[in-house]
Amino acid sequence: MACFKTSFAILGLLLLSSTAIAQQHPRLVVGITIDQMRYDYLYRFWEDMGETGFKRLLREGHVAHNGHYQYAPTFTGPGHASIYTGTSPVNNGIVGNEWYSRKEKKQVYCVEDQSANTVGSNSVEGKMSPRRLTTTTLTDQLELATNRRSKTVGVAIKDRGSILPAGFLSDGAYWYDKTNGQFITSDFYRKELPEWVNQFNARQLPAQYLEQPWTLLLPQERYEESLPDDRPFERPFSNTEKAVFPYDLKRISGIKRYGVGESPYNILLSTPHGNSLTLAFAKAAIEGEQMGQDNITDLLALSFSSTDYAGHQFGPHSMEIQDMYLRLDQELGEFLQYLDATIGLNNVVIFLTADHGAADAPGIAGPPAGYFDNGGFEMGLRKHLLAKFKKDPITHFINEQVYFTRPSGLEDWRVEAEVRNFAMNYPGVLDVISLKDFSKCTAEPTVCEKLRKGVMQGQSGDLYVQLMPGWISKYYEKGGTTHGSPYAYDTHVPILFFGWKIGHQDNYRRVWIEDIAPTVCALLKIATPSGCTGNPIEGVLKW
Ligand SMILES: [Zn+2]
Repeated sequence: MACFKTSFAILGLLLLSSTAIAQQHPRLVVGITIDQMRYDYLYRFWEDMGETGFKRLLREGHVAHNGHYQYAPTFTGPGHASIYTGTSPVNNGIVGNEWYSRKEKKQVYCVEDQSANTVGSNSVEGKMSPRRLTTTTLTDQLELATNRRSKTVGVAIKDRGSILPAGFLSDGAYWYDKTNGQFITSDFYRKELPEWVNQFNARQLPAQYLEQPWTLLLPQERYEESLPDDRPFERPFSNTEKAVFPYDLKRISGIKRYGVGESPYNILLSTPHGNSLTLAFAKAAIEGEQMGQDNITDLLALSFSSTDYAGHQFGPHSMEIQDMYLRLDQELGEFLQYLDATIGLNNVVIFLTADHGAADAPGIAGPPAGYFDNGGFEMGLRKHLLAKFKKDPITHFINEQVYFTRPSGLEDWRVEAEVRNFAMNYPGVLDVISLKDFSKCTAEPTVCEKLRKGVMQGQSGDLYVQLMPGWISKYYEKGGTTHGSPYAYDTHVPILFFGWKIGHQDNYRRVWIEDIAPTVCALLKIATPSGCTGNPIEGVLKW
């Protein structure tokens, strides 16, 4: 009896201490970024969503309803960098997806790295690394805090959606090689793919997805939140006539474009299969790396890229976008159940956000929105300056930023004045703002502030051509939409926290994207990324 009592007491102690340990740290952090997810999607599709996906996060988690990007330009590279570095391009160096680098004297891509090599295929899709980031990430700080004992993995279809969150010290960043349907990495991270990635690739899921047409999840009449199918301002797949359901992906992917064979695996990018594939890979990562299995916190940085490809192609008011979110909602629900079954949701911190929003398609929104003719603007501007100065003092026009040629033999103020003379008469231009001297910024003050935070000298341009609200590139006149502006439709995104010690709260205060990383660091009691300028979000840390 005494013996029984003693062992019972020991058991009790063991239970007590293991609970105490479990409460010190979550076992796993899952960061979910949904590429191009606007805040309003959470509620626009509410009626048709299930109970276990987005609704569960909204009902049980901390919901920041007024979460915005604190800088512009609002693109995927800068977005993922800001979420994980807790700061803006001014500090982290990711000033666009592409930009003109004065040092390298060429246009560069945010994660390109000619010194890196592809691991996992023969293509050049893996010549990538995070080297253009100038600060550490949340992922790096977790690795530093645990002396590299954490398992940390980045996963996305897009290279930049995986690499920028994973940062420098993660165990691996993996992305989709659209030329062959394989998940790959770069030798920046590792010399060969782990066995679990090889096994995943051997399953050849992309080939199976091509066999499955994209049909509507629900009966057509349930899509009353969207415009009817087959409308203008949706972009069909290459060489197909209409953007209408059902999409026979096998057939469409077999169509040759301009007589040139394209990889059939490309098509999965802008379909819900891209999200399914990402989630299947995420589960393989959790199992392959044994994430969440001990008391050292692990981190999975997950990004769903297909929502952005589809947004660009079909626009926010298409049935395609609604269907993709309804399917993602279902899969999110299944993923939560999976995490609960394998790790226990009370051991997991989940945060969910987006890398930027999107404009309504001007063709649908109508005036005062419009299409800005970038190409015509640049040509006209160069012609105007050539006539004035007998030479062209502009080297690049990208991200709506004008880069002066240096040296051009002309004083900056003279070039600036002539750019302004030309631009202010151009349809869709609201203002021309110096990116060198913000004391002269004549835009609305919060717009000036966002631009200032989005600029790194040596990487960004000299002038910003501010478009009027609602105006996007003429490229999208044929369908779809884009993003990049300092306006609310591009900056307002969901920010949700859920799981370990996090209770339900509807938070209507202004929260910035740069606040996400320091909030997670505060939950984990670890140091913030090296350039962090955000603050922990009040209310998430209440216990
Ligand atoms: Zn995009």
